[in-house]
Amino acid sequence: TCGFVAIVGRPNVGKSTLMNRILGQKISITSRRPQTTRHQVMGIKTVDETQFIYVDTPGMHIMSKDRNKAINRFMNQAATQALRDVDCVVFIIDRTRWTEEDQAVLKRLEHVKAPVILAVNKVDRLGEKGDLLPWLADVGARRDFAAIVPISAKHGTQVDTLEEEVAKHL
Ligand code: GDP
Ligand code: MG
Repeated sequence: TCGFVAIVGRPNVGKSTLMNRILGQKISITSRRPQTTRHQVMGIKTVDETQFIYVDTPGMHIMSKDRNKAINRFMNQAATQALRDVDCVVFIIDRTRWTEEDQAVLKRLEHVKAPVILAVNKVDRLGEKGDLLPWLADVGARRDFAAIVPISAKHGTQVDTLEEEVAKHL
């Protein structure tokens, strides 16, 4: 088997870090500065008989007034294209906050038929463990997610669980 997996989310949530963690090498540029990844970055991982083709998708968040700038139009198209034929989507958010840009990305996923897995990243920043649950329930109610997996892309926590969830949909 082989399948396409799109990694989507607003800038700075950890898409590139997750790609690198899953693929085990620095193929995707990570940075504190938003929009470092202007083009799609792809990586292939083979596990047993299955090939996972991961696509790091920039530009999902661009809405409203900046939408028609040439670079943003280009990035929007690339993002839409990437979602057309994927088998699974990993939607990453940062556990520390939910923003309008996250909402914009979620809206872009409205017409996506592939299952969407919500990855709640940066859980290593959690203060108290009890913090996560009420916050997650709120976001989790915004769409029928195939799964919700708290992760730390940076430290690798629960990334294997996320990959197992992805594998169910290929
Ligand atoms: P992207 O814009 O979505 O591709 O985000 P990046 O992968 O470039 O990450 C943005 C910033 O968040 C970088 O400084 C990363 O080191 C940091 N980051 C990513 N994942 C984690 C995580 O699990 N925990 C923490 N604390 N920081 C993270
Ligand atoms: Mg990136």
